[in-house]
Amino acid sequence: MSGLRYGAIRVALQAIAATGLDRMLGPRTRGLGCILTFHRVTHDPAPLLPENAGLYITPEFLDVALDEVKRCGYDIIALDALPERMAAKGERPFVVLTFDDGYKDLRDHALPVLKAHDAPFAAFICTGFADRAAPLWWLDLEDVVQRAGDMLEIAMPHGLPVSASLRSTAEKQAALRTLYWRLRALDEPAFRQVIGGLQYRYQIEPTRRLNDLCLEWSELEALVTEPLLTLGAHSMTHPRIGLLPIEDAEREMRVSRDTIAAHLGITPKHFCYPVGDQTAAGAREAEIARRLGYVTALTTRPGVLREGLDMQLLPRISVNGLFQNPSYLRALISGVPFMLR
Ligand SMILES: [Zn+2]
Repeated sequence: MSGLRYGAIRVALQAIAATGLDRMLGPRTRGLGCILTFHRVTHDPAPLLPENAGLYITPEFLDVALDEVKRCGYDIIALDALPERMAAKGERPFVVLTFDDGYKDLRDHALPVLKAHDAPFAAFICTGFADRAAPLWWLDLEDVVQRAGDMLEIAMPHGLPVSASLRSTAEKQAALRTLYWRLRALDEPAFRQVIGGLQYRYQIEPTRRLNDLCLEWSELEALVTEPLLTLGAHSMTHPRIGLLPIEDAEREMRVSRDTIAAHLGITPKHFCYPVGDQTAAGAREAEIARRLGYVTALTTRPGVLREGLDMQLLPRISVNGLFQNPSYLRALISGVPFMLR
């Protein structure tokens, strides 16, 4: 997604909110409701890369967002209740709240807000993060451009090297974005190879970041006693599952569930595809999710919930850190932006 695209999204959301299109069309376009995606809930400074900054919202905005969905007449329901609620096709719309990756700030910053709202929520745990075994590579890339000096020069398995000047913050941001999307264009083995090389070259210790940011098993054990929480699986190594050979894809989806069950005594009934875009989840992955008995499986494809959707390929709406404004959220959950696309 380019900078231009973020600008265009903001303009579209502003226009929908300002013209009242969301209020006018919402009853017809909002569908049955929607699933909202959250990542970090924190006062930490937002990262340099907009794609990363989008994953950071403040606890205050979470509070505002929950007020706003209630004000719009939505019920906040547990993910476990979603299949029944979709089948019932009731009059009142609903939202499901989902938190990906298993960050400590879910416990420290989001949970107090969720409790104050008595809001059920789902947490999708990547076992490799809890195990300190899979890197938060998108944040490690931020260290790469900070440590690379004046010039970034990175050989890529396919095509030209990534080569960029790093003399200003704007240049660093541009270089980071190029590197991020060049990496996202690689297949999983090549991607892992480049990430591993970067960690070595720039002396990035993935474990330190995981210790700082992600809940480990004993902490998750304490968290799962929370009655508002529904537990979900989010793979072992956070790969784009759609790019893996089928046996690896199946293993990521099955072993992550079994590992969570072994550690926490709860077998997740829901799965969330890492990255979650078209490359990460499709018909094949939905079929695996069904075969494994997952009741729902969630993507990051944007959209509202409608009758007849594949329950193992459900859309979500990201509550984006670049758009921390209740009127934008109202425009998004109205479903109008997805109708216009
Ligand atoms: Zn994730």
